[in-house]
Amino acid sequence: VKEKLNLLKSNTHNTVNSLLEDYALALASKVDEKITNGEAIGLLEGIPFGIKDVYMVEGTYTTASSDLLKNYKSAYTATAIQKLLDAGAIPIVKENCDSFGHGSSSENTIFGAVKNAKNPELVAGGSSGGSAVNVAKDFTVFSIGGDTGGSIRQPAGYNGIYGLKPTYGRISRYGLMAYASSTDCVGPIAKSIEDIRIVLNVISGKDTKDQTTYASQNITEESISPNNSIKSVGYFKNFVESEAIDPKIKSDFLSAVVKIKAKGIKVRELDFFKSDTLVSTYYTLAMAETASNLSRLDGTNYGNRIEGENLKDSYSITRSENFSEETKRRIVGGNQVLSQGFSDEIYLKGLALRDQISQNFENDFNEVDVIISPVTPSTPPKIGDSLKDPLAMYLSDAYTVGFSLGQLPTLTVPQGTETGLQITAAKDNDELVLKFANFLK
Ligand code: GLN
Repeated sequence: VKEKLNLLKSNTHNTVNSLLEDYALALASKVDEKITNGEAIGLLEGIPFGIKDVYMVEGTYTTASSDLLKNYKSAYTATAIQKLLDAGAIPIVKENCDSFGHGSSSENTIFGAVKNAKNPELVAGGSSGGSAVNVAKDFTVFSIGGDTGGSIRQPAGYNGIYGLKPTYGRISRYGLMAYASSTDCVGPIAKSIEDIRIVLNVISGKDTKDQTTYASQNITEESISPNNSIKSVGYFKNFVESEAIDPKIKSDFLSAVVKIKAKGIKVRELDFFKSDTLVSTYYTLAMAETASNLSRLDGTNYGNRIEGENLKDSYSITRSENFSEETKRRIVGGNQVLSQGFSDEIYLKGLALRDQISQNFENDFNEVDVIISPVTPSTPPKIGDSLKDPLAMYLSDAYTVGFSLGQLPTLTVPQGTETGLQITAAKDNDELVLKFANFLK
């Protein structure tokens, strides 16, 4: 714990929003005591981990990398984090990310752009950029990220490690600051499939504080050992045929397909929605949900209030001054698609498309066991470049957002293409995803 805290202190990659030094050292000394007394300790006991700065941990700053909450301290602890604390793991850092999860680069933050672990001139990806870089640089053993439309998988891909977006509802969202509640997922980022499995088991489970959760089976080491039970794999033809894909990512992905075939697995091309349909459906719904979720942040109950001449004025100044440009763009967009005159044409259409996308997945999983895809169409841009063009940033999420709309378990593995491969299975089949990852290794 001390060693990792020291590494984090120099904050070389802008991954740190706050260090939990006293908190972590107090927990670590309890574990030390147990060891000195010769008591048995659990698998995760004493293991230092990081937390994306959108999770409540009682008494610690939870800023969502925003001016609005820069002085806010959590009043309670998120279920997933509490489960890790109960297992003896030690949180050491609240990690930099795009503000409220809004972004794909970890530049939309008051703490400075996070630097990529492989090349510090490039973006780390996002929104869980700080979490991915901390794991990649060994500043934490694992981190808990959040994934609404790719925020665990894409930074994991950009930094060459594993990141899992579990099936929606497998892990409680209680204490995760809501971005888009219908796709928000809690998940682990780590350097091995085994670490992902161990952390996933600890944080999964039904929670009365999140009615969308369900009771899932524990995933054992044996159950994900590679065997021949996976017979068929699919991939989306239009992902690799899209004009936006980097030629090297395309050829590497197709070579990965050839290697899978060589292992005796059937690989099928599948039809899917066009990237722009996926991106526009996702952003319509995500913006609508975030506009609604963030309406509570008006300076009355939480955060950095700025007084105006009257109450309405105070709300307006507090929100105008304290939300980032990107967050305001989404609130305005979200309120627009929800407003009368637009909601039928845009929001309801988005919901209908989402149903069709989910149905498409259901049909696919009658044909194939898993679906593979590149994580991103392109490689990470230079820090500063992507902020100039928000639409291009949204379009770069083309390969991750569909699986979020489908609420499917999807894992990024650091192989295949420069920004990794995604493996997806049917709902609640997180086990199969990990098993196929072991098979590909
Ligand atoms: N880049 C996507 C967005 O900005 C996904 C972010 C996320 O998963 N939090 O919405």
